[in-house]
Amino acid sequence: MEPIVTKGLTKRYGELFAVQNLDLTVRAGEVYGFLGPNGAGKTTTLRMLLGLVRPTAGTVLLNGRPPGSQPSVGALIEGPAFYPYLSGRDNLRVLARHAGVAARRVDVVLEMVDLSGRAGDKYAKYSLGMKQRLGVAAALLKDPRLLILDEPTNGLDPAGMADMRTMVRRLGAAGCTVLVSSHLLGEVQQICDRVGVIFRGRLVREGTVAELRGGADLRVVAAPLD
Ligand code: ATP
Repeated sequence: MEPIVTKGLTKRYGELFAVQNLDLTVRAGEVYGFLGPNGAGKTTTLRMLLGLVRPTAGTVLLNGRPPGSQPSVGALIEGPAFYPYLSGRDNLRVLARHAGVAARRVDVVLEMVDLSGRAGDKYAKYSLGMKQRLGVAAALLKDPRLLILDEPTNGLDPAGMADMRTMVRRLGAAGCTVLVSSHLLGEVQQICDRVGVIFRGRLVREGTVAELRGGADLRVVAAPLD
């Protein structure tokens, strides 16, 4: 069963097609880069995948089922609300308790996002990159097989980006299917098995990074991507 399959996925806001007729398949175990410039339709697509926005037309199946109905999907799409004066670990403990997840899982996910050494620090003291990684840790609490990350490297400095890339690569290597959006090919090219390029709501290119780099029609979108 493919983790993500969309057919003809469309979202229209008045005259504007934010997403138009999108056929997207993400295969089990791959890290898929969803690329496009600002306003291309990435977030709208991810929100439809998660059942947060209702499509105007088309279908979404996650592991063969409609979105919103399964625990095996983790997402970082809008920063989760953390308590600034609690430590990273205590924040995750609060979330774990609410989600009915065993407290020992907290230390496992902190290790996965490489925050074990700083888990006792207050959230308010975290760098933006650490905050983002704590968000990913929260998404991993329920041990999802599919992880959807909306521009996790946005706003990060080069070191923060490198940490995030290392983490996504490690999750992919551990067998988690990952869909990660970005507006920069350079940001995700080392970690993605395949890349899809969305431009003005349409999937205009799809392939490995090598295939995309060689493709003539990437020039259409090359400027905003590189
Ligand atoms: P960014 O990188 O800036 O987040 P994006 O690729 O995620 O961009 P979307 O946020 O999906 O793009 O937006 C796609 C288009 O749909 C944009 O033109 C945006 O203005 C429009 N749009 C998104 N949400 C709404 C809404 N609720 N009402 C009207 N238009 C919307």
